[in-house]
Amino acid sequence: MKKAQNYVTGQWQKGTGDGVPMFDAVTGEVIALSDTTGLDFAEILQYGRDKGETLRKMTFQERGNMLKKLALYLVKRKDAFYELSYRTGATKIDSWIDIEGGFGNLFANASLRKLFPNQSYHVEGDPIDLSRGGRFMAHHIMVPKKGVAIHINAFNFPVWGMLEKCAVNWMAGVPAIVKPATNTAFLTEAVVKEIIASNILPEGALQLITGSARSILDTVQSQDVVTFTGSASTGRLLKSHSQIINESVPFNMEADSLNSSILGEDAIPGTPEFNIFIKEVRKEMTVKAGQKCTAIRRVIVPEKLVEDVQIALGSALDKVTIGDPRLKEVRMGSLVSKDQVDEVRERVEEISKTAHIVYGSLDKVNVIGADAKKGAFISPILLREDHPFTNHAVHEKEAFGPVSTIMPYKNLDEAITLAQMGKGSLVSSITTNDDNIAKDYVVNAASHHGRILVLNRESAKESTGHGSPLPSLTHGGPGRAGGGEEMGGMRGIKHYLQRTAIQGSPTTLTEITGIYQANAKYKEAEQHPFKYHWEDIQPGMSLKTHKRTFTDTDIINFANLTWDHFYAHTDITSLDGSIFEKRTAHGYFIISAAAGLFVYPNKGPVSANYGLEECRFLRPLYHNDTVYVRLTCKQKVDRDVAGAEHPSGIVKWFVEVFDADDELVAIATILTMVQKKQETFVE
Ligand code: NDP
Repeated sequence: MKKAQNYVTGQWQKGTGDGVPMFDAVTGEVIALSDTTGLDFAEILQYGRDKGETLRKMTFQERGNMLKKLALYLVKRKDAFYELSYRTGATKIDSWIDIEGGFGNLFANASLRKLFPNQSYHVEGDPIDLSRGGRFMAHHIMVPKKGVAIHINAFNFPVWGMLEKCAVNWMAGVPAIVKPATNTAFLTEAVVKEIIASNILPEGALQLITGSARSILDTVQSQDVVTFTGSASTGRLLKSHSQIINESVPFNMEADSLNSSILGEDAIPGTPEFNIFIKEVRKEMTVKAGQKCTAIRRVIVPEKLVEDVQIALGSALDKVTIGDPRLKEVRMGSLVSKDQVDEVRERVEEISKTAHIVYGSLDKVNVIGADAKKGAFISPILLREDHPFTNHAVHEKEAFGPVSTIMPYKNLDEAITLAQMGKGSLVSSITTNDDNIAKDYVVNAASHHGRILVLNRESAKESTGHGSPLPSLTHGGPGRAGGGEEMGGMRGIKHYLQRTAIQGSPTTLTEITGIYQANAKYKEAEQHPFKYHWEDIQPGMSLKTHKRTFTDTDIINFANLTWDHFYAHTDITSLDGSIFEKRTAHGYFIISAAAGLFVYPNKGPVSANYGLEECRFLRPLYHNDTVYVRLTCKQKVDRDVAGAEHPSGIVKWFVEVFDADDELVAIATILTMVQKKQETFVE
């Protein structure tokens, strides 16, 4: 019998034991044996930490480009993954969520490179001035942790589960060790085989353990990060591992979640919202055969609409064909294993001690194209709990399959309380066309949820759905949902970076952060800064301009040119009682005049004005006031537009406008597009 392999310490390795069978969820056949006997987890973890140096030294741009390349490479090979995915019981759509959803995470994280500096560490937030004289300040930097990310994953998303997490730690510069659930590790293995064969990742960036790893946490260290997705009981066991506690290892947990979906009181039968709600609940019950951490478990509806919802959901579920997930007409495949069928049955039996089953049966399922006895098939089960305030099983027992329970509420406060009785969920949704109801629900229920979707006739058309966590949004929930947080764009990446406050002089912090800090020493440019190409410009490079005196005519002319006739510029008889003493220059005139002073007019590497940020006018400037400008390179932001005809980067320039007494009167950051050296210019 074929054995799944583990990719550890730079090689594919088979276990030395007998192995545990991994079953085809549809036919019951054994696909391969999972075997991790003989793996030395201490060595595997240390290997990752040591080899991580390469990733840590790469810049965010390089890491992002690596992810994009990997995603493109995997997309080309997706067909083989779909074939294997059917064997987990997943339909084509289910597999798309897992496989291409996983690749989507690589792409989305790759795009985040543009939000980070072009270096191996991040500079976070705004500078903090700590002194009166401007010579002592602080900033926060975030550097890659010098450990490994250990991902202990659930069976339901063997590809997405790996990639949504790895995309993030790779972007941060941290290597990963992935331990998928044994049941479906054969699919994860197939994807990792391609990843390793691609040679796109540096060696050590990814190790794979395709089976049991009971002692994997025994040697975790303080620089490592552990993530867990699975059952609450295993999660709690691992979170309280002595090594996790002793070494203060961050432990991100995503466990059971009894997600709710609320039908607004306005969404009566006949409204688009009623139909949207029924469709969404059916979808969430049956996609992935309900084996989704974000699936709708609790269907909370106005008391007077319970019957309508029950009937409408029943007929919607009637249309769900169950069977061999390869068949086009099949809408719902099987659960992942026979064990999982037993587990779901047990949970439903617990819930139905008080609730009653109003749709489906635990004993009977109609299946097409497969043998119902051999595969892990189960019918969708809809329950109804009429007393959800007194009977708590529905808020506590997660049947991880196509199972949901309808329950009534009398008013929105009750609906909110019921949602909260789940004691913390990954996601909740409300379907209503009344934005007051939506606001009331969202603001009051948010404390207990990681994400809330509001559906109505407008949003439903383009909604990504109740069950879809998105790479740019936080995924995780408080309490029962584990209290963790994954993805969420830049936020997710920061979980693998150490945030450190750095204190020192503005000049020192300019060097450390790569961003010019106000009051730092200027590096006088040897020629006009606009004459330099991208590569030769450095933060701090500075130019002091000649001076200019604003005249009364300048101000009048600017008013006429722009049609900005605000009284302070045009009517000196109205200045009494205002903050202005004399005819005042327009703020935009100050900035325009500043540009007139600092711009180098000849054709050169600066190809365009790209915009303006953080502009402030610190005091009014009057006619006869004289100004000069300091133009200082603040920051360089690289752009890697593939195939660009004129490769360029963005340079942010700090513009300080001073008056004749050297007092700062205005500041702005202007952005220019500066060409890289491939271009030649005629001076
Ligand atoms: P488990 O919690 O048993 O397993 C999750 C992961 O943890 C698997 O990779 C498993 O590996 C691993 N694991 C289990 N015990 C240990 C240990 N002592 N040390 C190290 N790793 C360990 O969940 P299941 O996958 O079996 O699913 C069971 C239930 O969990 C489901 O029925 C469902 O209720 C819930 N669940 C919730 C999810 C969510 O996101 N909310 C997702 C999936 C499941 P191995 O497979 O090798 O045992």
